[in-house]
Amino acid sequence: MTTVWILGDQLTLENAALAGCDPGNTRVLLIESRARAVHRRHHRRKLVLVYAAMRHFAADLQEAGWTVDYQRLDQTPVFGDALRRHVRAFRTERLRILEPSDFATRHALPQWARDVGVVLDVVPNNLFLVGRDEFRDWAGASRRLRMEHHYRRVRSRLGVLMESDGSPAGGTWNLDSENRRTVSEWRRDGCPRPPAAPPMTPDPVTREVIEMVDREFPDHPGRAEGFDLPVDRAASLRWLDHFLDHRLPKFGPYEDLMLSEDPVLFHSRLTPMLNLGLLRPLECVQAAERRYREGRAPLASVEGFVRQIVGWREFIHGVYWLRGPDYLASNALDARRPLPRWFWTGDTPMNCLAQCLRQVLDTGYNHHIQRLMVLGNFLLLAGVRPDEALDWFNELYVDAHDWVMAANVVGMALHADGGFMATKPYAAGGAYIARMSDYCRGCRFRPTERSGPGACPFTLLYWDFIARHAARFASNPRMAAIVRSWTHRSESDRRSVLDGAARVLETLL
Ligand SMILES: Cc1cc2nc3c(=O)[nH]c(=O)nc-3n(C[C@H](O)[C@H](O)[C@H](O)COP(=O)(O)OP(=O)(O)OC[C@H]3O[C@@H](n4cnc5c(N)ncnc54)[C@H](O)[C@@H]3O)c2cc1C
Ligand code: SF4
Repeated sequence: MTTVWILGDQLTLENAALAGCDPGNTRVLLIESRARAVHRRHHRRKLVLVYAAMRHFAADLQEAGWTVDYQRLDQTPVFGDALRRHVRAFRTERLRILEPSDFATRHALPQWARDVGVVLDVVPNNLFLVGRDEFRDWAGASRRLRMEHHYRRVRSRLGVLMESDGSPAGGTWNLDSENRRTVSEWRRDGCPRPPAAPPMTPDPVTREVIEMVDREFPDHPGRAEGFDLPVDRAASLRWLDHFLDHRLPKFGPYEDLMLSEDPVLFHSRLTPMLNLGLLRPLECVQAAERRYREGRAPLASVEGFVRQIVGWREFIHGVYWLRGPDYLASNALDARRPLPRWFWTGDTPMNCLAQCLRQVLDTGYNHHIQRLMVLGNFLLLAGVRPDEALDWFNELYVDAHDWVMAANVVGMALHADGGFMATKPYAAGGAYIARMSDYCRGCRFRPTERSGPGACPFTLLYWDFIARHAARFASNPRMAAIVRSWTHRSESDRRSVLDGAARVLETLL
């Protein structure tokens, strides 16, 4: 008897471990492991998402003719015990599994298989567009990687947004410059808003999971109640269509905008489903491309969306496997400050942070610019330890997985890899947040003030960060001018900014 073990982030009938197996001689195993649920204090909505999606996927498997052994949370303290029970009950000789997406599970597999006496087949992971070996071959021994090079190569290989002569659609690879509309431009455009996403009323299976999660994990952040995401393939496809029809056309121009009243705006909220396998990356970008070819969405938006998935998502995944576990411990900027306690409550007078924190504590979601340019930016400027930041991001987000967090937090947000994947740190002062959001209007600080009690903490911390790392960044072509503008200021001006930053660090952290 063969067993195909499917992990909670591999929920697709196209899972390559199923391919070639005979449903008559194969059992499919799914395990809800309690140890896995509590090794971090995951947001409750993340737990609901994963268990509800696994339970719905078990039903899809049965409908497709597979026999399923589904081990629920109350039976399974750890993976190893559940596996042993399964192997004994069904006399499994061979265990097939798709390559797990994280190092820890990948490394534990051979020992688990030996412990229960089965032959192990680890099948290459087919949930990404770029295989781990392909990425490694492309990266070679480079000391720095650039996403743009990876993006163009993969887009050409896949033929996404490409013309028949091999040139990119519209004659250009990159329409980023059209995709940075500010809050004043949004107001000038008449304050466009997308229609609400289709309501996802939980069915009895999901309701049972919501009650279980609230009962079993009372000390985890967030509320399970109010959960509104799709948990099966059919609903995920409807959600994707709704995004493509109603939000994609303006996704590009307003990608970087942040509003207090509408935290999602034109973003897709597809990651929860994409990262579990309910949606496939290629089908998402091909469906977006069809909207462009049919004249239903502009190229700038479609290219922006394709860039996120073919470019960033695959690049981030590649870097995780390329750099290995040591990458997680990177701390090139020697950041030592502990994570502020108010990251767990949102209780801070800085309105931009309070808005983003309250949203994620409540729903498990922020869009990319909130994660990068508000939360990540603050942690970078304040010099918070990357390992503590990584744990926090991992616990709070419904779409968090080890592979996606590593390069996003360590590399992109905190520059802790010393610039391996970004030519300069994503650091900005209050002026950027004021330009791209409506947060500053409701804040007791003022983004343009550099001294006195109204001075914006982001602006003070930005210059403090530049001063702290001036020696490192003076030779960086994209940072040198900023460093010079700092060193050319008068001594008293610099002193006043640094004193202000010290006060911020003392009183607000
Ligand atoms: C500090 C930090 C933490 C992050 N944490 C996560 C995380 O836990 N899980 C996660 O999936 N992404 C994470 N990201 C990447 C990105 O912010 C999210 O994928 C995106 O915000 C999810 O929202 P969305 O589905 O509405 O995305 P959209 O803005 O609609 O983008 C479309 C899709 O592009 C992909 N994408 C875009 N940017 C990235 C990226 N940098 N890395 C990977 N995929 C990307 C996602 O699949 C996303 O669904 C993080 C980024 C930063 C800077
Ligand atoms: S003034 Fe500064 S702290 Fe306040 S919301 Fe704006 S950027 Fe954030």
